[in-house]
Amino acid sequence: MLEVLLDNSEFPRICPICGEITHKKLCIRDKVKTFSERTISGDFVKSLDEMNLLKNSEILSTSKLGYDLRTAMDLIKNKSRFIQETDIFFNSIEKVTKPKIMIFSRDHRNYSEIFLDAFEKFASDSGIESIVVDGFIPTTVSLYFGGLISKSEKSKVTVLHSTASHNPPNYNGIKISSGKFKGDIFEKELDFIKQIKSEVVLENYSNWVCLLNKFSNEVTFDLVNGAANLIMPRLAKKMYPRATFMNNQLLADFGGMKPEPKISVDWNGFGFAFDGDADRSAMYFKSKMVLFSKFLAGMTREGLFKDKKVVSDQRTPPQIVNYLESLGVKVIVGSIGRPNQQVIAQKENAMWFEENWHSGGYAVNDERFQWSEAPFAVAYWLDKLTIPIEKILKGDPKYEQK
Ligand SMILES: [Zn+2]
Repeated sequence: MLEVLLDNSEFPRICPICGEITHKKLCIRDKVKTFSERTISGDFVKSLDEMNLLKNSEILSTSKLGYDLRTAMDLIKNKSRFIQETDIFFNSIEKVTKPKIMIFSRDHRNYSEIFLDAFEKFASDSGIESIVVDGFIPTTVSLYFGGLISKSEKSKVTVLHSTASHNPPNYNGIKISSGKFKGDIFEKELDFIKQIKSEVVLENYSNWVCLLNKFSNEVTFDLVNGAANLIMPRLAKKMYPRATFMNNQLLADFGGMKPEPKISVDWNGFGFAFDGDADRSAMYFKSKMVLFSKFLAGMTREGLFKDKKVVSDQRTPPQIVNYLESLGVKVIVGSIGRPNQQVIAQKENAMWFEENWHSGGYAVNDERFQWSEAPFAVAYWLDKLTIPIEKILKGDPKYEQK
């Protein structure tokens, strides 16, 4: 399974400011969270310290570092130093995740070529088998592609995808996942090549999504001028003949929009709004966001969703949890944050969701893949939505979002 790596509060830990090794989760002197030495962040901080680069580190002064890297790119003062540290960061990723193959892809955000250049240098210096996706793809497609390569090469892969998801346009960074994927979910395998065109990857993914039934009613897609533009128009050609698109330009700065599914959309009707990297898609009806759990409850009641167990998040209203349970669906209340949901869902062998529409753990050919999906998730639910959405959202549970 491709997993996001979490800091499991292991010891010893290291302070990202003073570099001191500690058995505390907080560095008392610097009042910051410490990193386990066994994590990528911890190994990275340790490497910087050993090279005397910890003080004045460009990455640490411009970035949030956790299970991913998110950098305010416009705050970088010394670009060559940033690239040097990115190379060290990539070395830590390899050291900690120990893959046979490393894959790099990126979306359309500004500054992603900095990460691309750093990756190419790292891959040639380290000699690791690597694949670079040439062109832009969304986050979920990078995970799909990583899973596909892992399966066909029977190897552990680490997937690096340059994006900053829903963060403002001045941000960019790296999402990391790693693992061995064995699931038999793919339509068509791809040959291993060191440089693969984004077009080939997008086409493979879209053929996979198109195995689901098409949706012939009206549906609106708000793409926030983000990475959803790389895939949704392509899917619409085959699956959504009556689709309307909003904010459907691929813009590195999202055209001034916040790359987040909007809290309220200014279009009426039924449809979906995506976040900047298109791994999240919220459903809207009559300009209001639909709680995922409420939709799920309606789908279950109408016999259109048949899983007997799901992982929800803590924001799911208790009346909806109770209602789902009265319909025979066991609800495991997980926690907010997609890596956490993924871990719980994997253990439970269940689908997971968050109310703001991160969702994953969908079953294909009786195999579950746990990365969060959005384009596939939209297709998955539209495939099942064979009665009007009004009917799904009407009736019990009596819960309306404020
Ligand atoms: Zn995202």
